[in-house]
Amino acid sequence: MHLLESWVRFSLADNLEIPRTSQVNQANSLILLKILVILCVEYLKGKGAQINVANKFSKQFVSTDDVDGQDEELITERPKTEIFYESPKKIISYNTSPDINMSASINPYQGCEHGCVYCYARNSHEYWGFSSGLDFETKIIVKKNAPQLLERTFLSLNYKPQVIMLSGNTDCYQPLERKFKLTREILSICLKYLHPVAIITKNSLILRDVDLLKELAEQNLVQVVFSITSQDESLRRILEPRTASARKKFEAMRILNEEGIPAGIMNAPIIPSLNHHEIPSILKEAAKNGARFAGYTVVRLNGQIQKIFKDWLIKNFPARADKVWHQIQQLHGGQVNDSEFGRRVSGAGETSRIINQLFLAAKRKYFKNEALANLDCSKFRKGGNYTLF
Ligand code: SF4
Repeated sequence: MHLLESWVRFSLADNLEIPRTSQVNQANSLILLKILVILCVEYLKGKGAQINVANKFSKQFVSTDDVDGQDEELITERPKTEIFYESPKKIISYNTSPDINMSASINPYQGCEHGCVYCYARNSHEYWGFSSGLDFETKIIVKKNAPQLLERTFLSLNYKPQVIMLSGNTDCYQPLERKFKLTREILSICLKYLHPVAIITKNSLILRDVDLLKELAEQNLVQVVFSITSQDESLRRILEPRTASARKKFEAMRILNEEGIPAGIMNAPIIPSLNHHEIPSILKEAAKNGARFAGYTVVRLNGQIQKIFKDWLIKNFPARADKVWHQIQQLHGGQVNDSEFGRRVSGAGETSRIINQLFLAAKRKYFKNEALANLDCSKFRKGGNYTLF
């Protein structure tokens, strides 16, 4: 993209003879020309990341920049999804981050076809030898033995139950779940052993499992969070291309709540100047569809996500890119990445204060009776649903 910008500047200054007296006109023309050039660069529809970036653990990397500076992407075809199978030895991951409520999680899939460009899980794809860019959304690792491993864990003598998050890293209802049904099997095992589980998803495929969720909910063993970023379909399609639309997620939220399955909303991530103005309308719609609770997080761009997001931002919002980038920096003490507990999810400074006020005002207005019981760990049955008497 830097090459592209240099080319635009070169063309403007030396080839188009724009009157140098008018700086405003020159700036406007620059933006227009940028847009025109960007429109000519092939855009991979249906993908969030538009590039692959170097894996910090790999010695070699195939660059997508033309070495002769022609701004010609080497990725010319739409990458297809590839599936890789993995048989891990353990299935529950634990973390000790103080700003995450639940410390146990299961991820039956690594990588996520939903392709959200801002996804923090992208970086974890590097541990598998892949890029956090396009690879993350096209090379998906499937842990086929996840349900069996979970059952074995539940049967081990020293296992102590605590709420398991499905999924802490990638989405357990991403498109491949339709084929593999690992999440469904995991829910069946949670039901068999009466183990509590919390689910966060950006897909309405969860409706397929209403039967199991309903039984879990009757025992206070499940909560569902729908992660919703925008009601603007033109934004969602480029920002998180293979997720369900907000309309579908609100509908799923309504159905779950009507079935007695407590479901709420995570308005995340908030990206200043892209979706922050939607906070009130999203919370209003969530409340209308029975949401029992609401939360939010702000965007942060750790590791390689910086490059992926910046490339995406300039390609999609050339006129607004600098402003958005600067505001993300304001949220995180001058950086776009942030690993400081607490600040990394809510941000700090003026931009964070505006977002927080907007959220709290909407929450006060639409979520007057927010109340959520803790899930029940006391019912856990080590022997499953088979008893001798
Ligand atoms: S749905 Fe979640 S895990 Fe999947 S790409 Fe989007 S943010 Fe990442």
